[in-house]
Amino acid sequence: MADISVGKEVLSHCNKCKLALAHIVVTMKTKSTLGKVECKTCGNTHAYKDPSKVKAKKSQTGGTKRAKSATKQSISDLWLVAVNQASSKSQPYSIRACFKLGDIIDHPKFGPGVIERLIDADKIEVIFRHEIKTLMHNK
Ligand SMILES: [Zn+2]
Repeated sequence: MADISVGKEVLSHCNKCKLALAHIVVTMKTKSTLGKVECKTCGNTHAYKDPSKVKAKKSQTGGTKRAKSATKQSISDLWLVAVNQASSKSQPYSIRACFKLGDIIDHPKFGPGVIERLIDADKIEVIFRHEIKTLMHNK
């Protein structure tokens, strides 16, 4: 570091910002050693701290990851819970049949499903193992 002097810009670790940021040299300890520096971001003046000697603390931004996996968990888990809670015997799905909430149906294409929601007089929301489908009934 040859050309370090008061008024020059230097990269230092900032205690306030907790980052390696550009600082302005305020004082020099010796001709080649930095004394105090002023953070250009927060304006805080403090002793120079070599950013390469400051160990980065473990990232505190771990929150976003969990939210994503929580939504992915969904369907097969919901399906399992719904099937276990359903009291009725499974019945073959037919557009002419009339289903109730919680009924288990056996769909030729999607397999066993549980009536999750009655959308309309002739529409039901059924949760299958891999997807939730809206089906017709009561026709
Ligand atoms: Zn700062």
